Amino acid sequence: MRALVTGCAGFIGSTLADRLLRDGYTVIGIDRFSDYYSRGLKERNISSAVKHPRFALLEEDILDMKSFPSVDYVFHLAAQAGVRASWGESFEVYTRDNILATQRLLEFYKSRKIRKFVYSSSSSVYGDAELPMREDRMVQPVSPYGVTKLAAEHLCSLYWKNYGVPAVSLRYFTVYGPRQRPDMGINKFVRAVLNNEAITVYGDGTQTRDFTYIDDIVEANILAAGSDVRGEVFNIGGGNRISVNDLIGAIEEVVGKSAVVEHSAEQKGDVKDTRADTRKAEELLGWHARTGITAGLKRYVDWIREEP
Ligand code: NAD
Repeated sequence: MRALVTGCAGFIGSTLADRLLRDGYTVIGIDRFSDYYSRGLKERNISSAVKHPRFALLEEDILDMKSFPSVDYVFHLAAQAGVRASWGESFEVYTRDNILATQRLLEFYKSRKIRKFVYSSSSSVYGDAELPMREDRMVQPVSPYGVTKLAAEHLCSLYWKNYGVPAVSLRYFTVYGPRQRPDMGINKFVRAVLNNEAITVYGDGTQTRDFTYIDDIVEANILAAGSDVRGEVFNIGGGNRISVNDLIGAIEEVVGKSAVVEHSAEQKGDVKDTRADTRKAEELLGWHARTGITAGLKRYVDWIREEP
């Protein structure tokens, strides 16, 4: 089995690539090593994959590619991530990497025989929706990033309806664990507590998130690829909805140190709360979140402590 992983040097893409290699797939990874965060971190993410005989890295921008590898599965993770940076001039990068790049891939694979096109979408498509967030309810993003992720989801469903591209969209809820992007909260908080530095919390810290451990996200991709389901959208949320204040408490407990917390203004584009209704993924994909927040944080903190 051959799989294409776009965004293969990123947090989730690299972890998925490692899992696919372990499962016996031949993996072709595409990444343009965008400068959103350090190239060094991305190189470290794929340091074991690049040594694997069944892995090939194409350091390319999807938008510069005229054709794509012949594969059985496409896992499309490449994107410009981050909610807060998506305002203003940088929106151009978001439309390019999130919407146009998705369209290019769908356009190419519409005339190829692939078994599944698994698109990494986001809970950001919901905006401040009623909880728990359900796939069949109204979506109204509150950030430009969310708008681009939703547009790409719509493209997946259009290419399924019109050309039979067997696309499935997975809406991830705040993902954490080893290799987490440096701009994400848990990464910043854990490192700050370990290094006795202050944590900056936006707003009063009562906002809540449904945190999802990386291995559960990878598992959802594997199950979506192997299922008969097409043209559907699924919530993939860990069932660990806690406030930012409680998250910091949990980190203090796992690290064994107190946090120094500073507050700053709420950020435009941040939603107040998220919580996934995951019954659809449970019923149709057989997916269940397996890692609770304390166990996940322990694994993450251990991983950071073992970093070179
Ligand atoms: P990441 O930034 O670590 O990885 C994305 C990778 O895509 C980067 O390495 C970047 O260089 C690459 N890329 C971007 N545009 C590209 C292009 N045009 N051509 C080739 N490569 C390109 O991000 P991540 O956190 O691993 O997120 C992966 C996916 O999951 C994204 O689609 C993101 O929107 C989605 N997602 C992530 C989260 C989360 O909590 N991390 C939550 C919801 C959805």
